Parts: sequence; structure tokens; C-alpha cells
Amino acid sequence: MSNKPLFEVRILRHERINEQVRLLWLPKLSSFKAGQMVSISIAPDSSQRLYSICSGEKDSDIAILYDIKRDGFLTPKLDELLAGNSLWVSAPFGSFTDFVKGSWFLASGTGIAPFYSLFRTNPEFVGKLVHGGRDESSFYFMNELTETLGENYIRCSSRGIVKDTFHGRVTEWLQGAQLADAATKYYLCGSAEMVVDTRDVLISRGVDYDKIISEIYF
Ligand SMILES: Cc1cc2nc3c(=O)[nH]c(=O)nc-3n(C[C@H](O)[C@H](O)[C@H](O)COP(=O)(O)OP(=O)(O)OC[C@H]3O[C@@H](n4cnc5c(N)ncnc54)[C@H](O)[C@@H]3O)c2cc1C
Repeated sequence: MSNKPLFEVRILRHERINEQVRLLWLPKLSSFKAGQMVSISIAPDSSQRLYSICSGEKDSDIAILYDIKRDGFLTPKLDELLAGNSLWVSAPFGSFTDFVKGSWFLASGTGIAPFYSLFRTNPEFVGKLVHGGRDESSFYFMNELTETLGENYIRCSSRGIVKDTFHGRVTEWLQGAQLADAATKYYLCGSAEMVVDTRDVLISRGVDYDKIISEIYF
């Protein structure tokens, strides 16, 4: 939930990524830093929700990648909107930014958004990108990420077996991974459960608490 000043914009494009995930393109109200978010509402006086920006700093429009919660308030309504429809959006804000070059980025589901924004802006900043999803349709931007990051882009599929993809959760992959040197930072983004579980594995494997920085989608 959020209560930011909002500005009316028209939806530019609305893309179906898979059965329950959409990529929504909006005009860019101002510049932003990779990792920042916007607050969104379907009417000026309606309830707001937060979404990480899922496009690069230099892209001319902004995108958000959202998961439709069928029993949620905003996302089922958002899903019905078409290009040209109005939406109310805040200016970008947030402090999950200033990523350190060469860090590890660990995400689940739509939690990849801030890291994809960083990748679009400065791909060389991404030391390793580990993305957890249910099945093949969960690996948004897979071709682009594979082409640029190669072996430093790791997919973890918790349900079906997917080619060239670790079978299991991000936490399970981390248990067996050779971690980076002690100075490396780990940025986490996803549900509270994913962030807490991933942080616990990192700490149990000797990573300092202050090297772990998280954004939780509550
Ligand atoms: C910093 C931040 C960034 C975020 N970025 C993204 C992003 O990039 N992409 C994305 O998809 N999401 C993101 N989120 C989550 C997003 O803000 C919304 O919470 C999400 O889209 C659900 O909104 P909704 O209105 O559809 O569902 P809501 O109405 O908020 O409901 C969410 C879930 O809670 C359940 N629920 C609602 N009320 C109750 C209740 N009283 N008791 C029990 N259960 C209840 C609903 O059934 C539903 O499953 C982010 C959140 C934060 C905090």
C-alpha cells in the first residue's frame, strides 16, 4: 500500500508474458535509478500499490512486470486495461538502488524487475543473476539475459524440468553453489518468504549480514 501524489498517464502497451504475468508500458514521467519503483492506482482516489520499474534508465518508456493476484484488489482490474486507457502513477522513488558492480542478484518471480532494470542500464554490473520461477514460462527475458550474461545467468525451476535450468528453488541452488569472495554483495528481491529463506541460507554459508540487501514484495 502507498499514498503518493499521482499523475494521470495513458497506457502505451500491455503485453501478456504468461498466464498470470503482464508487462505494462507507461510514459516516463521523470528519470529514475534502476531499482526504484512507482505507485499505481486505477483512479486518482483509489487504493495504490507499489511496482518496481522493469525497464532500463535509458529506455524512453517505463515498464512494470506484474503478477495477477486473482483475488487481489488492483491487479485483476489492471489486467483488463488496454493501450490508451488511463492509469494513475507516481513519480519514481525508492532506495533499493546504487548497486555495486559485480554483485550477485537473487530474485524470484516478478522480483527480477529491479535487476532486469539494472541489466538494461548497465549489464556489466551484474556479477551473477539467479532467478527462481515455477516453470519455463516464468523466465521472463530469458533469451536476452542468456545472450548477454551467459553462465552468470542461472535459472531455478521449482516445478517442471526445464532445459539448462537448475531443478529446485533458489535456496537449494545456493546450498551447493560456490559463493563469491567475502566482499561481494548479495541483492535479494521477491516475496517475504523467498527473501527470508535466501538470507538464511547465505548467512548459514558464512556471508556477512551486512552484505545482504533486500527488497520485499509484501
Ligand atoms: C517495494 C514493492 C515493490 C513491488 N513490486 C512489485 C512488482 O514489480 N511486481 C508485482 O507483481 N508486485 C510487486 N509488488 C506487490 C504489489 O505492490 C501488490 O502487492 C500486488 O500486485 C498485489 O496487489 P493486488 O491489489 O492485486 O492484491 P491485494 O489486494 O493487495 O492482495 C494481495 C494478496 O493478499 C490477499 N489478501 C488481501 N487482503 C487480505 C486479507 N485481509 N487477509 C488475507 N489475505 C488478504 C489477496 O487475496 C491476494 O492474494 C511490490 C510490493 C512492494 C512492497
